[in-house]
Amino acid sequence: RPELRGIGNELALVERSANRLLLMVDQLLEFSKLDNASAISAERVSLEQALDLVKTSFDPLFKSKNQRLTIYPFTDVALLLIPDSLNKILINIVANAHKYTPQNGQISIVVTANETSVEIAISDSGIGIAKEYHQAVFERFCRVADTAVDFNPGAGIGLALVKELCIANQGDIRLTSQLGQGATFTVILPIAPLSSLPVKSATETMMATIDKQLHFSVGQPHSAEQLVDTLPLQQQAGTKSILIIDDNADMRQMLCGQLNSQYVCLVAENGQAGMKLAKEQIPDLIIADVMMPLMDGYQLAEKLKADEMTSHIPIIMLTAKGGLQSRLRGLSLLVDDYLAKPFNLGELVLRIQRLLAIRDIISKRAGQQVASSSGQPTKIDFPVNELEQQFLDKLQEQLAKHYDDPELTMAVLSRALNISEKQLQRKLKACYDQTFPEWLRNYRLHQAATKLEQGHKASQVYYAVGFSSHAYFSKCFKSHFGCSPSQYFQIKAEKAMAQLNE
Ligand code: ATP
Ligand code: MG
Repeated sequence: RPELRGIGNELALVERSANRLLLMVDQLLEFSKLDNASAISAERVSLEQALDLVKTSFDPLFKSKNQRLTIYPFTDVALLLIPDSLNKILINIVANAHKYTPQNGQISIVVTANETSVEIAISDSGIGIAKEYHQAVFERFCRVADTAVDFNPGAGIGLALVKELCIANQGDIRLTSQLGQGATFTVILPIAPLSSLPVKSATETMMATIDKQLHFSVGQPHSAEQLVDTLPLQQQAGTKSILIIDDNADMRQMLCGQLNSQYVCLVAENGQAGMKLAKEQIPDLIIADVMMPLMDGYQLAEKLKADEMTSHIPIIMLTAKGGLQSRLRGLSLLVDDYLAKPFNLGELVLRIQRLLAIRDIISKRAGQQVASSSGQPTKIDFPVNELEQQFLDKLQEQLAKHYDDPELTMAVLSRALNISEKQLQRKLKACYDQTFPEWLRNYRLHQAATKLEQGHKASQVYYAVGFSSHAYFSKCFKSHFGCSPSQYFQIKAEKAMAQLNE
């Protein structure tokens, strides 16, 4: 099998690559499987340190193309951000500047700050981007075709991730460019309010991320016991599942063998079996071959995207080299990424990581949005597909009908939705990054808050929203809103009074 030959070697090559930096860069892109607490806790970072680190790390790469990176002097500012986001944002944009700028080019970084926000403008003297693509480059898997650099194909995910990260941090990103005239990406981020919190060094946070990603410590090696202690936990908590659909047994086995140390692997040998398994198990990602008997990859992708149980799942399609061009467009509308065979296994792994990372960002944000909404069905304000939104609406509708029943269980709700409990559980995790009890509790608490605001008594509210114990309700309420139910009413009432007096 030609496509299998040398894959192990290639992976070894990637790992040993002189350019370890690139591997690290890509590893960094994966959102670490943060538990909820650390996902929300922000981190103070120094912009200057982060930029210095980027400069030193990229130095060899820039040298290799005889490019010059200039960071214009500025007064340092502290930013309060989701852990690791600054590194990921900078690395992606600077990597693009390097990649899309020819030999001897110039890259410069200019920082301007006011009291509340900072603008980081990263300019290059490279090939530039035509106006018509200025929005599209921030979309997933968008690559400007004629400018694609052959020897260094990308997935078109970098900027989508950057934009997600900017927005998740209450910032934004702008692009100014003309074809052939270089490009400037300007990142806008809020400045941290003055606080006594110490600034974490960029090196510290970057190393910590690399640590987490690579499961070993860069500076101080873990003892064997520590490794044994921490690894299984990490795996249990964050292990994602991947469904591999391929009629070629060798291929299935090879992929499974390579991926099962990091992921739970499910396999199916044709499209039909794959579809069935996908609906039952709701994996986090699907890898499918295009050429398969019974149901080929295209039909499969169509079915998967048209089924509300599976429409959210990212698909990576494996295609043969020939025949790729003609179907590329149709394919790119359906699937999330594709790789032509024979492919580099290292690259597949990176693409898997990035797709899962993007999915994580989406579900975390949806979950946060839902958790902070006041119980009205929420339209998620970023792109989920129509089918997914329809399903989420149905979910909210059923929840609104049943939440006040203290006996409400996952079984009851999944029956009402006509799906299995496992499906409900996997969907909640995939769409909101929440478990059933978390989701239900958040909803009940917000309903309670609304009722308290309307003047209902705490001693009655808890039962009305489906809590069976007052004490437990108070405890949950306090940990969610940071005050007791009666305090909540008082605070709201005082606010309303203050507004009236104004
Ligand atoms: P990867 O996922 O590996 O980052 P990518 O670099 O192709 O792949 P993005 O970083 O999302 O993907 O960029 C999207 C597209 O925007 C690129 O394919 C390229 O066509 C264009 N682009 C991005 N940065 C620049 C730049 N500095 N100059 C010119 N074109 C750029
Ligand atoms: Mg890129």
